[in-house]
Amino acid sequence: MKMFYEKDANVNLIKDKKVAIFGYGSQGHAHALNLKDSGVKNVVVALREGSSSIKKAESEGLKVMPLSDAAAWADVVMVLTPDELQASIYKNHIEQRMRQGTSLAFAHGLNIHFNLINSRKDLDVFMVAPKGPGHLVRSEYQRGGGVPCLMAVHKDSSGKARDLAMSYACAVGGGRSGIIETTFKDECETDLFGEQTVLCGGLVELIKNGFETLTEAGYPPEMAYFETLHEVKLIVDLIYEGGIANMNYSISNTAEYGEYVSGKKIVDSKTKERMKEVLKDIQSGKFTKQWMDECKGGQKNFLKMREELAKHPIEKVGKKLRDLMPWIGKNKLVDKSKN
Ligand code: NAD
Ligand code: MG
Ligand code: MG
Repeated sequence: MKMFYEKDANVNLIKDKKVAIFGYGSQGHAHALNLKDSGVKNVVVALREGSSSIKKAESEGLKVMPLSDAAAWADVVMVLTPDELQASIYKNHIEQRMRQGTSLAFAHGLNIHFNLINSRKDLDVFMVAPKGPGHLVRSEYQRGGGVPCLMAVHKDSSGKARDLAMSYACAVGGGRSGIIETTFKDECETDLFGEQTVLCGGLVELIKNGFETLTEAGYPPEMAYFETLHEVKLIVDLIYEGGIANMNYSISNTAEYGEYVSGKKIVDSKTKERMKEVLKDIQSGKFTKQWMDECKGGQKNFLKMREELAKHPIEKVGKKLRDLMPWIGKNKLVDKSKN
């Protein structure tokens, strides 16, 4: 698989375009600010009237416009509102407004791949999907690096979509760490699979079950928190920096032996079978349909599950312990008053 870097792109192409970033959440704030710092002269954030994000964007010196006005103004519309709202935002504010031959962009393939949005024929449609949470897309860029990006072209009406997508990917920082060219289908399916089985779904359940096992056996919740949550970061940092062997070099031989013999008892071939089932439901569109139905029903189950998680003892003891470790919160990646 070929990786692309700044040297492979025309980084200047995007600088003269009028770019409207729809939404100012996790990805939105990172794209808008990174583009601006990369020299894109006309970046606008498109938000609803009364949105609590208006203040955040303006305090960073960004211009804010109503959604429909921004769609009419822009050469490139990057849609970074929640996935479940993108189809209605496209219908109500974008479809009739974008000028002929301009570009519609996404950071995730879901709406295009599962036909929730059927984009207008004359538009270019591309994707630049950073492979990391938005707050890191911003913080890594500020450190002089970047988060790797997937790039894909769904529709190339102008014949120039790929060059512009590559230039956009560089401006958010992807050209510093690597840009991989892919398709909306592959990005969408691998992204959903990763977040459901390993990164978010799998990891959170592993942490919770480990914490519960220790506390149910009578160990103090503070100790259980450190063992099963706090240390995850320390371990993952070592894996991130140099692979699994790098982590194993740093831990004790006892820990490494335990990893080999007990790890496979926790995540075994049956787990992998279930991962394959999850992948099947992603590929068939069953998961996306279920999620969109949940949204049509007002996200009742979704919000209930969020509430239940907030009540979990690990979240309670975690808050207490983190308050005693103020350095953890210094230069926090997530600051809800700003991003
Ligand atoms: P988010 O929930 O953090 O932010 C969405 C923002 O959209 C809100 O902050 C608000 O400013 C705006 N918004 C909400 N409702 C709106 C409405 N009705 N009209 C207009 N604006 C509205 O979203 P996110 O997690 O950044 O996701 C945005 C896109 O990026 C999605 O397609 C997602 O799949 C993709 N993506 C996200 C991440 C991530 O790190 N969160 C990573 C890769 C790709
Ligand atoms: Mg995702
Ligand atoms: Mg230990």
